[in-house]
Amino acid sequence: INAAMARKTQSVQDVSHPPLCRRKGSGGGYDCLIVGAGFAGSVLAERLAADGGKRVLLCDRRPHVGGNAYDFYDRSGILVHKYGPHIFHTNNDAIFSYLSRFTAWRAYEHRVLADVAGTLLPIPINRTTLNGLYGLDLRNDVQAADFLTSCAENVEAIISSKDVVIAAVGRDLYHTFFEGYTRKQWGLDPSELDKSVAARIPTRTSTDDRYFQDSIQAMPLHGYTHMFENMLDHDNIDILLDADFSEVRKEHVSAHTIFTGPIDEYYQHIFGALPYRSLQFKHETYDRRRIQPVGVVNYPSEQIPYTRITEYKHLTGQVHPKTSVSYEFACSEGDPYYPIPRPENQALFKRYEQLAKASPNVTFVGRLGTYKYYNMDQVVGQALATYRRLKTFSIGEGRV
Ligand code: FAD
Ligand code: UDP
Repeated sequence: INAAMARKTQSVQDVSHPPLCRRKGSGGGYDCLIVGAGFAGSVLAERLAADGGKRVLLCDRRPHVGGNAYDFYDRSGILVHKYGPHIFHTNNDAIFSYLSRFTAWRAYEHRVLADVAGTLLPIPINRTTLNGLYGLDLRNDVQAADFLTSCAENVEAIISSKDVVIAAVGRDLYHTFFEGYTRKQWGLDPSELDKSVAARIPTRTSTDDRYFQDSIQAMPLHGYTHMFENMLDHDNIDILLDADFSEVRKEHVSAHTIFTGPIDEYYQHIFGALPYRSLQFKHETYDRRRIQPVGVVNYPSEQIPYTRITEYKHLTGQVHPKTSVSYEFACSEGDPYYPIPRPENQALFKRYEQLAKASPNVTFVGRLGTYKYYNMDQVVGQALATYRRLKTFSIGEGRV
C-alpha cells in the first residue's frame, strides 16, 4: 500500500495545478454550472457528464477538488486530510458500488478513545469504558445494561442533546464525555442543540469499540483526492479552481446552476445569515512512528482548547518513519463546516428553501446547500437522487 501511495504522490500534489484546472473549450457552451467540487458537486458533474451527456462547468473557490474530503501528501510525504478526519462508512450498497467505480478501497474500522484526565477510554461509551472509568467488573451485556439503567435519568421529553444523553447514561457520564466536548465543538451547551447531534453517538453494553457499526467501512486506497480526480476525468467536464461563483457567474450565465455552497449566501443573506460552525486545524509532523494508539483521540475537557487529535497513518495504513497529526479547534468565524442543528436555524433554512422552490433554474445539494448535518455517504445518496430527478427535466435546453 505504501509503495502504491508513494507512486500517487505526484498526482495528488499536482491536484491544484493545471491538469485539473482545465478548460477543454466549451464549444457550444455549458448545459450546467456546478458550484462546489465536493461530493455533492462532483457526483452531479460525473452523472450529468457521463450518464446524461451534458457539458458541465464545475467551479470551486478553493484551489482543489474534493471539498472537505480533500487529502494531500504533506511535506514529509504523509497522506493527510486538510479539513480533518474523513472515514467512509455506509449501510448502502448502491452508494458504495457507485464510488467503487472511481477507487479501490482499504478496509478500515475507525476507533476513538476519549482522554479523561489522562486515561484513554473507548467512545462511544461501552462496557470497557464503564469498567475503566468506575473500576467495575461488568462481565456481560446484562450487567452493563443494568448499570446504565441505574445511572440513567427519567427525562420527560427528549428534545435537546443534553436530554438524549442524560436519558441514556445519566449526569456523570454526560459531564465526563459530552458536556465539555459539545460546548467546545458547537459553542453551545448541549441543552441548546437538537437531540440529533448527540444521538449520532450510541451507547453500548458490549465491548465493541468501533466508532461506526455500518456494514461497509473503508478508506479510498489512494486517498479521496485521487478518487475525485477519477470521477471528474471526463471530456464533458471543465473545472475552474480558485473561482468563486460570484466571479464565474459574470462570465458563464448557465441555463441551470447546481449550488452546493451555503444556500443563504446564494440568496445574499436576504433573510439573515444561517449560522454555521467553523474549524481551524493545526497540522504537525513528529519524528516518531506513532503518537497515539488509535486514529482519533477526543479531548472532552474544556480545559484543553482542541476537541480531537487525528493521526492519519491509522486511517490510511501508510507506513512511514514519521507521523502527521491534526489538532482540531472549533470556532464561529471562518469557512462554514457544520450546519448547526437547532429549531430556529431550521426555521430560517425553511425560508430559504421556500425561495429555492420558486427558483427553477437552480438546484441546491449537499451539506451547505441543504443545511443538513450529512455524512459523505448521505451526500452521495442525495446527489444521486437529485440527478435522477433532474434527468426527468431536460437540463441544457438553453445552452449559453
Ligand atoms: P463540501 O465538501 O463542503 O463542498 C462544498 C464546496 O463548495 C467546497 O469545496 C467550497 O469551497 C465550495 N463552495 C462553496 N461556496 C462556493 C462559492 N460561492 N463559489 C465556489 N465554490 C464554493 N463524513 C463522513 O461520512 N465521515 C467522516 O468521517 C466525516 N468526517 C468529517 C470531519 C469534519 C471535520 C467535517 C467538517 C466533516 C466530516 N464529514 C464526514 C462530513 C463530510 O465532510 C461531508 O458530508 C461532505 O464533505 C459534504 O460534501 P459537500 O459536497 O456537500 O460539501
Ligand atoms: N460528542 C461528544 N463527545 C465525544 C464525541 C461526540 O460530546 O467524545 C458529541 C458532540 O456534540 C459532537 C457530536 O456528539 O459534535 C457528534 O459527534 P461526531 O463524532 O459524529 O461528530 P463529527 O465527526 O461530525 O464532528
